[in-house]
Amino acid sequence: NDFEDYLLKRELLMGIYEKGFEKPSPIQEESIPIALTGRDILARAKNGTGKTAAFTIPLLERIDTSKNEIQGMILVPTRELALQTSQVCKELGKHLGVEVMVTTGGTSLRDDIMRLHAVVHVMVATPGRILDLAMKDLAKLKNCTMLVMDEADKLLSPEFQPIIEQLINFCNPQRQICLYSATFPVTVKQFKEKFLKKPYIINL
Ligand code: AMP
Repeated sequence: NDFEDYLLKRELLMGIYEKGFEKPSPIQEESIPIALTGRDILARAKNGTGKTAAFTIPLLERIDTSKNEIQGMILVPTRELALQTSQVCKELGKHLGVEVMVTTGGTSLRDDIMRLHAVVHVMVATPGRILDLAMKDLAKLKNCTMLVMDEADKLLSPEFQPIIEQLINFCNPQRQICLYSATFPVTVKQFKEKFLKKPYIINL
């Protein structure tokens, strides 16, 4: 397989090749064509397999940059991972004109509010701060139709789980959820039963 096979926008292909990716990794081969159709995904995937690009590429492809709306959200458990993931998003989306915002706890809320005055298409976030912004109606998530949960086993810890459920309710009811997890504890299984619609299962 080649990245060309997915009929991606050429601006996105440029970002992919500029990052030095020549061929899709196995998790990318499984994820990208399915995620592009809008179907939910439940993937067991370790770090270091290329999973960040596996969910970022289809998400970026489906952003309509003519609309000033948050259309995709990537939830991660830690600030460090949020920064890394937003960096990948910005690099891959460099030629697309997709605007990426990262928001995490432990930073200035005022800076986030300022940033939200400008265009945001993709939000990369840890759960607490983005819920705060959504509840204050500062981040508008009703047009968010693509939700990625990375390291979902950690995102569905007792601390985060109620926050995740509230966040999903702020998103568009027609949303796609792509969930990536290294392990499948009971919390992830329960989440799957409650929120995923006929997910495509990836087990690598
Ligand atoms: P990840 O599992 O997302 O943390 O990615 C692990 C590493 O693999 C990162 O350094 C990526 O830049 C790199 N990577 C991801 N996809 C590809 C690819 N298709 N070809 C080459 N390197 C890749």
